[in-house]
Amino acid sequence: MPKAAIDINNLPYADGDFFAFEQLLSAKEQDRLAEVREFLAREVRPIAVDCWNRAEFPMELIPKLAEIDLVSPVRRQGYSNLFAGILHAEATRADTSIATFMGVHDGLFTGSIEALASKEQQDAWLPEIYSLTKIGAFGLTEPLGGSDVAGGTRTTARRNGGNWILNGAKRWIGNATFSDWVVVYARDVDDNQVKGFLVDTKTEGYSAVKIENKISLRTVQNADITLDNVVVPEFFKLANANSFRDTNKVLKVTRLAVAWQAVGQQLAAFDVARRYAVERSQFGRPIASFQLIQHQLVQILGNAVSSMGMMVRLSQLEDAGEAKDEQSALAKAFTTARMRESVALGRSILGGNGIVTDFEMAKVFADAEAIYSYEGTHEINTLVTGRAITGISAIV
Ligand SMILES: Cc1cc2nc3c(=O)[nH]c(=O)nc-3n(C[C@H](O)[C@H](O)[C@H](O)COP(=O)(O)OP(=O)(O)OC[C@H]3O[C@@H](n4cnc5c(N)ncnc54)[C@H](O)[C@@H]3O)c2cc1C
Repeated sequence: MPKAAIDINNLPYADGDFFAFEQLLSAKEQDRLAEVREFLAREVRPIAVDCWNRAEFPMELIPKLAEIDLVSPVRRQGYSNLFAGILHAEATRADTSIATFMGVHDGLFTGSIEALASKEQQDAWLPEIYSLTKIGAFGLTEPLGGSDVAGGTRTTARRNGGNWILNGAKRWIGNATFSDWVVVYARDVDDNQVKGFLVDTKTEGYSAVKIENKISLRTVQNADITLDNVVVPEFFKLANANSFRDTNKVLKVTRLAVAWQAVGQQLAAFDVARRYAVERSQFGRPIASFQLIQHQLVQILGNAVSSMGMMVRLSQLEDAGEAKDEQSALAKAFTTARMRESVALGRSILGGNGIVTDFEMAKVFADAEAIYSYEGTHEINTLVTGRAITGISAIV
């Protein structure tokens, strides 16, 4: 690649924060963001492509993630939801898989314990969860129950004296090949309600098999889980997880986090495409000098910044305790649609090099597909919003 004529790092707007949204954070939050950003640049981004190519999770990163202390920024550390969102976007910008590892352990798993466990259960479990001594997973989706899992949970829980007996299967469960615990949502055969259980993955009858050959989030270890007469003591039934409405309290917050991932993904596309456009020359000049390339870069920036604006406001509403399910749903649907366009534009700017992971963009492009589909697909989130504005459900 020819030497850059322009110092890309010293151009304005190198951070992609075109409307200075980060200025809405407190000084303490801005300092913390800078600290984590430096960590991500030093420890995560340099190893991300190699891990992705090998489809292996860097276990050696876990003690480093523990040291930088990222779990539960809002409930435990007292930061705002706005800060947590921007932080999650930054983690995604460095590597979507590592951000998703944290999203599963922190948002889905820890979020389940924080929202749905009793004080006694939280006191027993949270210290090891916060310190990443124990890694968690979140088991809701099933081989036959995806978008309709709320009404279609087939995994069963049967009370047996002081224990519960779980039977069934879960699919797509992130971190589950190596996690110590997994929160399993299962239907109580007595009252037909979906309840939550903390399952120790060493329990007899529990098995997790890695899903191979993924084209997206290859570093995340997703598993097919089988539960064959798994015995869970009563203390490990989450005290306040007694219907799918309770599960939804967790998903509402994590949906918001995934929409922030869509912001981070677009900023990653912007970073890689802008650098490439300035450094790559054709016809004797940087491709960034061509109007069509500038147009595409500006489209990516506009998509990213409009997505961020929506997410900033939604997080402020969440901080005020006013965010609604349908607002998270519209945010997830809108930002992921913009993201898909942005990563495709980014891939195009890199020409042929856009389809090999060596130049990073191919990873950014492919990882966007998982974001588009998990945490409620684009279609389902569109229909949740449609239901809110028409009063008519088109989901079933
Ligand atoms: C990488 C990855 C990680 C994941 N991690 C986890 C995890 O850690 N834990 C967990 O529990 N789950 C996890 N999931 C599961 C994820 O939440 C589901 O994939 C998602 O909910 C969609 O379910 P499905 O894949 O079964 O698709 P389906 O529900 O089968 O949908 C297939 C298609 O039909 C469409 N569709 C379905 N119903 C309707 C409708 N009523 N109207 C219009 N269109 C409809 C969908 O939008 C989609 O386009 C993960 C998934 C992926 C891909």
